[in-house]
Amino acid sequence: MSFASDGSGPFCGALGCTEAADVVIDHPERGEIVVCNDCTSGYVVVRHV
Ligand SMILES: [Zn+2]
Repeated sequence: MSFASDGSGPFCGALGCTEAADVVIDHPERGEIVVCNDCTSGYVVVRHV
């Protein structure tokens, strides 16, 4: 039921993950990364996508 399922939305930037992106996290080394809810790894969520 996600609007990201139309195939045009952003996808998770975590290595090996193909889930649709849910949030942007602030990574200390890589900066802002778009990831899914399962890949936030405890980093600060900047915003939802
Ligand atoms: Zn992911």
